[in-house]
Amino acid sequence: VKIDIKTPSKSYSVYIGNNVLDSLSLHLQSTHYTKLLIITDETVGKLHLEELQSAIPQSYETFIYVVPPGEKAKQFAIYEASLSFALEKGLDRKSCIIALGGGSVGDLAGFVAATYMRGIPFIQVPTTILAHDSAVGGKTGINHPLGKNMIGSFHQPEAVIYQTEFLKTLPQSEIRSGFAEAVKHALIADVSLLEFLMSNVIDLHSIKDEHLIYFLQRGIEIKANIVSQDERESGIRAFLNFGHTLGHVIESSAGYGKVSHGEAVMTGMIYALYLSKEVLDLEFNITEFELWIKKLGYSLEIPDGFDFNNAFTSMTRDKKSYSNQPRFVLLDKVGEPLVKELDKELLEKVYTTFLSSTE
Ligand code: NAD
Ligand code: ZN
Repeated sequence: VKIDIKTPSKSYSVYIGNNVLDSLSLHLQSTHYTKLLIITDETVGKLHLEELQSAIPQSYETFIYVVPPGEKAKQFAIYEASLSFALEKGLDRKSCIIALGGGSVGDLAGFVAATYMRGIPFIQVPTTILAHDSAVGGKTGINHPLGKNMIGSFHQPEAVIYQTEFLKTLPQSEIRSGFAEAVKHALIADVSLLEFLMSNVIDLHSIKDEHLIYFLQRGIEIKANIVSQDERESGIRAFLNFGHTLGHVIESSAGYGKVSHGEAVMTGMIYALYLSKEVLDLEFNITEFELWIKKLGYSLEIPDGFDFNNAFTSMTRDKKSYSNQPRFVLLDKVGEPLVKELDKELLEKVYTTFLSSTE
């Protein structure tokens, strides 16, 4: 499957399927970069680097830089070391960086590409389900000790090569984390995709290839459609934040890495569904939805360190909020999101309803 993505700053293609490395070969043959730098993490490198390299034309001088797995890749020190490596190896403005890994590697490698010599080309080779979200849209960046994703840039890739074979080695927890963003795309944009997911995905251990490819494709189309209308997040791109207002607080109050991003977002989405019911009379069977989600293994637990008052303060301080009330993405209907600022009293009342539902 090939999806063409148009943004004001660039057009590029996303190739998804069991064997799309050929598309990478073709792209590299026709583009003539001077040198290649593959950035990957220790885990993904061991599993899939060899296969990726087999798709690179012999004529290319290729360097490999291996970073620590997960969020650790997005540290200043690693960013600096990656730039040093690129300089030592003599990459120039016509060289290309290839990101082989999940969203962490993609964000880091994309940011290296965005800033090396004021910006050089890069290609995303995502290896997680979550990366169907992160590999499209052009946001790249790293973390600061004072906040996640606080340093970054918009930089669109030359191509996205989504070899779904690479997803076969994902641990369950990562599948669960990534699948939450697929559910998010369905909730904010496509009621038929939600029905498709609820009837075809009943066990995260055994998602059929054709189903996986289909929902990754739809998720990417949905994200691309939103991003192409609002590349730099001044309006509707905020819809992608569905479930994230509370999700971010759950993620950070548990301590990063304890509750995965997707698990936290899933909990945040269910809260947002209750809010939507209260504020917009959303017609939706939340109970049935929650049952499905729990069967898939989401715990929907609120971490020990979580306190509503503190959560309210952090949600208000979220970088996406402009006043002193937190902004929430709500659903008028499934597929019809809107943004609303909500007051503390209402948020607390619905939080209590939500808590009793997840027990
Ligand atoms: P990740 O890249 O941190 O990978 C998670 C873990 O899975 C790592 O340990 C990794 O080594 C391992 N892994 C990756 N692929 C594997 C495979 N095929 N087989 C076995 N193990 C594999 O995680 P992620 O969930 O893909 O990405 C999370 C990051 O993405 C966060 O930093 C988040 O901020 C970022 N993100 C960015 C955007 C964006 O628009 N740029 C959007 C959403 C999330
Ligand atoms: Zn997310």
